[in-house]
Amino acid sequence: MAHHQILIVGGGAAGITAAAQLKRARPALAVTILEPSSDHYYQPGWTLVGAGVFSLEETRRAEADLIPAGVTWIRDAVAGFDPDRNLVSTASGQSLSYDVLVVATGLQLCWDKIKGLPEALGQGGVCSNYSQHHAAYTWDTLQAFKGGQGEAGNAVFTCAPMPIKCPGAPQKIAYLAADVVAKKRLAAKVIYATATPGIFGVPVYAAPLREVVKRKGIDARYNHVLSEVRPQSREAVFKVTEGETSREEVIGYGMLHVTPPMAAPQVVADSPLAAASGFVEVDKFSLQHTRYANVFSLGDVSGMPNSKTAAAVRGQAPVLVANLLALLDGQPLAAAYDGYSCCPLITGYGKAIMAEFNYEQQPVPSFPLDPTKERWSMWWIKRKLLPGLYWNRMLTGAQHERRFIPGLKG
Ligand code: FAD
Repeated sequence: MAHHQILIVGGGAAGITAAAQLKRARPALAVTILEPSSDHYYQPGWTLVGAGVFSLEETRRAEADLIPAGVTWIRDAVAGFDPDRNLVSTASGQSLSYDVLVVATGLQLCWDKIKGLPEALGQGGVCSNYSQHHAAYTWDTLQAFKGGQGEAGNAVFTCAPMPIKCPGAPQKIAYLAADVVAKKRLAAKVIYATATPGIFGVPVYAAPLREVVKRKGIDARYNHVLSEVRPQSREAVFKVTEGETSREEVIGYGMLHVTPPMAAPQVVADSPLAAASGFVEVDKFSLQHTRYANVFSLGDVSGMPNSKTAAAVRGQAPVLVANLLALLDGQPLAAAYDGYSCCPLITGYGKAIMAEFNYEQQPVPSFPLDPTKERWSMWWIKRKLLPGLYWNRMLTGAQHERRFIPGLKG
């Protein structure tokens, strides 16, 4: 059985960043990444793929090119966790032991929880920016959408119950679509039907977003949980909660953008590492597992109550690395994650609100500007600056210093 000093499960945004920072901090560490995929995607770019600004190819890199120098890559998937024996098993039947485990598998998209969706997706005007297979189809759909009288003129955008990754993404594409509809002067209604009770969970940013919704004439419907897609009749079925009661609402669509429900990957949810939620049970400040001292987690699979974004990983990775090294050194775990997350809320072509906040839902702006305002400069940062920061500084571990990172205060 192969033994690994530090075994990182998952080589996405979180796994690669943690590995790169660990190697920079201590080049002699033996770090291994267990990751099955040959491709790595910059998922925050998919909103702009769906809006026709980026090509999908611009968001893809070969995983092999991103594995930090000196890090071992095992191209396999975890199939089981046995933290009582410091072991993981893999899909190909290997057994790997470790000194320290870092769980960074991301989350799973539960398309099949919506009746009719798996069959409907990717054709007939049913699209989603949440999948690399369908983000480009969002743009195709938007271009093909002609509006029209009645339900054919409905462009419907859904948002699943929390937690989901990038909770702002479902509404960003609705704002961009509203711009396309307005530019083409289509007779159309943009409907944003969300499972959440309000437009955004952080009050200080919700206020300007409500104004955006109003200005763009978007029909926002809250407490709407998508339950079924009927492609034949082009209908989306929602369960709508009103106080103690619930009812069914059917909305006809000309196009439908779906944000699917999300959950921890089954292999994590079924393991002793999981909290009741299915996500990895870690201390929300130290990122150390609450029951297994040699296990840490970051990124979307971790069970902290932060907003799940790649930006959050930028806040988490330095903390995880500092605490993991402290553990190896027999020192107290002194670093603490403040819940930092950032959602560049694109409110149209050329406009964004850079929503940065912490566990307390307080704004933690990186720039000396009112963070609640829509700005062209924040659109430029989202479009031009952040992709390069991701590939060249975050995934290389260079972005260790908080001063390089929106919201990281050092
Ligand atoms: P991922 O990057 O998803 O990586 C998980 C990795 O684990 C993958 O490589 C996967 O192959 C691997 N894995 C899965 N199962 C196993 C297994 N069994 N064994 C081993 N490995 C496994 N974030 C922002 O900061 N700003 C944004 O504007 C933004 N917009 C977004 C828009 C969209 C449409 C989407 C989809 C996401 C967006 N995000 C945004 C969220 C961001 O992409 C994620 O929060 C981030 O990628 C999380 O990193 P992660 O490493 O935890 O998960």
